[in-house]
Amino acid sequence: MITIKSPQKARQLIAKTKAKGLCLGFVPTMGALHRGHLSLIRKARAESDFLIVSIFVNPLQFGPKEDFRKYPRKIKQDRASLLKEGVDLLFFPESAAIYPEGASVFVYEDRLSKVLCGKSRPGHFKGVSTVLVKFFNIINPDIAYFGQKDYQQGVIVKKLVADLNYNIKIKILPIIREDDNLAMSSRNVYLDDKARIKSRCIYQSLALARNLIRKGRRDTDKIILEMTQLIRSKARVKIDYIQILDANSLTKLNLINGKTLIAVAIYIDNVRLIDNIIINVKK
Ligand code: AMP
Repeated sequence: MITIKSPQKARQLIAKTKAKGLCLGFVPTMGALHRGHLSLIRKARAESDFLIVSIFVNPLQFGPKEDFRKYPRKIKQDRASLLKEGVDLLFFPESAAIYPEGASVFVYEDRLSKVLCGKSRPGHFKGVSTVLVKFFNIINPDIAYFGQKDYQQGVIVKKLVADLNYNIKIKILPIIREDDNLAMSSRNVYLDDKARIKSRCIYQSLALARNLIRKGRRDTDKIILEMTQLIRSKARVKIDYIQILDANSLTKLNLINGKTLIAVAIYIDNVRLIDNIIINVKK
């Protein structure tokens, strides 16, 4: 595995590889790798001739009061995992190389970014979109892999690729969970044992929604109310949002119909956790 920090050097090496007609797979990450990341990397490894993984804790996608400074960084461990997975190139740039001083061009998606996490984290998706456009320009992959864990991110990336004419296939892979169903996340290390037990209410609320829908319930307000009550009854946590949206347009549904996103974000002791499920209800 080659590790490259310089965007220029990465671009040169990758362009040579691409010229040989090889299929380039790309998995962008912020590191502190867990089994969720590894599931993307394994799928990408199986489907591409040359596999690039990036590790970059992107300052632009963190709000001023968020956890950029304390976000876990485990490059030694991560490198060992990537080596084991047979990754060809680790792109590990410095912040200054990605955001040179005076940078004033950013990428902003104007509709899908305004709901869910975009509403609670102003500027977050501007940061995500900008860094991904930069990475797509440097790497020019054939396929890029993302997790359903960050469902809204996946929808925005697909729109970005379509609207900005990138020739990149975007694949969204399922959420990998801990044994107690907590969605794996690099941020789970912030949770102590008590918080960890509280966190179970997120998936329990999603499972409740799924059961209600299976039983024929379609009224989103009432389902959201029951989810809220379940969370409140299990743990004292701060609910950021519980939403039921059309999974493609991310618009609100009054009645569940078609491909539906049920998404939850809560804070436990100031740690923000998100999770979601997709349910297909026949129209
Ligand atoms: P991050 O390092 O948090 O930016 O995540 C890098 C990629 O891994 C994103 O596409 C995430 O959606 C994906 N990812 C994170 N956690 C999981 C998980 N539990 N299951 C599947 N994919 C995940």
